[in-house]
Amino acid sequence: MDDEYLNLNKLETFNEIANESNLKILENNQLSTLEYNVILKNIENMAREYLNDLEHEFKSRSTLGKIKLLTLSYADVSYKSKGAELGSYSYNRIQVDDRLNDSDVISTLIHELSHHLFDEIFEQILMYVWEIEKSDALEAYVSFTLGTNAVFILMNEYCAHSVEGRFIPHGYQNYGSFNKILTEEFDLKKDSEAIFFALILGNSIADDIIHILENFIDDNLRREIRQVYKDDYSAPPSYDQILLEKKEILDDETKVSQMHMMLMSGIALAKNKESAEVFSTIKDGFISNNS
Ligand SMILES: [Zn+2]
Repeated sequence: MDDEYLNLNKLETFNEIANESNLKILENNQLSTLEYNVILKNIENMAREYLNDLEHEFKSRSTLGKIKLLTLSYADVSYKSKGAELGSYSYNRIQVDDRLNDSDVISTLIHELSHHLFDEIFEQILMYVWEIEKSDALEAYVSFTLGTNAVFILMNEYCAHSVEGRFIPHGYQNYGSFNKILTEEFDLKKDSEAIFFALILGNSIADDIIHILENFIDDNLRREIRQVYKDDYSAPPSYDQILLEKKEILDDETKVSQMHMMLMSGIALAKNKESAEVFSTIKDGFISNNS
């Protein structure tokens, strides 16, 4: 991000990342909104560079093929043939069930890609603040921070459903996994503040991811997606889930500051042996998927 040449470090262990000195650096270096927007632009450019080389192939692909190519510019995609879940995301790898019809594969790919980009944004913030390269350990650290806090998990899920909902036809929106986490892990009354926080920040980050993806899923491609839904579904859409969509988002300043707090909370959590073990399991996941 800097013009001058930087010889960047790679942090490889939990202790190299989650220590007092890094905590101090993070504490004192909250991103400006300008820096945050540069990070979003860089993430957009990852897909742009990947797809530029494949311009002809992209155009000649089916609608699903185009969405798959876009997804591949950020993460691995593989297929599964068992289990109730439509798809899943872990350690830079997206899995989709191969028994779904095209429209459901499309929405699942966009949903899981959003989970990936959610993590990617936080990774890029830390890489920028600590002036380090991406490593398995850094990715594991972000996964650990975002994945061991129920509020962050709820936020991530709301974000993914909102991004997915943006690109599929009106009336097919689905907040299934969000609702599941909400009812299983939260008390609607007691936790109302935490839930509200998760929704608003999740929606704000969703808005950033939507802006990145709109560069590639343009009006034409969205029209194609609508057609795929028409071909797949004879049943009319149902509108009860779309009521979960939110318009409200945070201003950039507040959003960046809350994301900063989320990253700080990971370090505070990371101080015991149990955390070190969770971290090491996550890191093994990244090592095996990244190689
Ligand atoms: Zn999800």
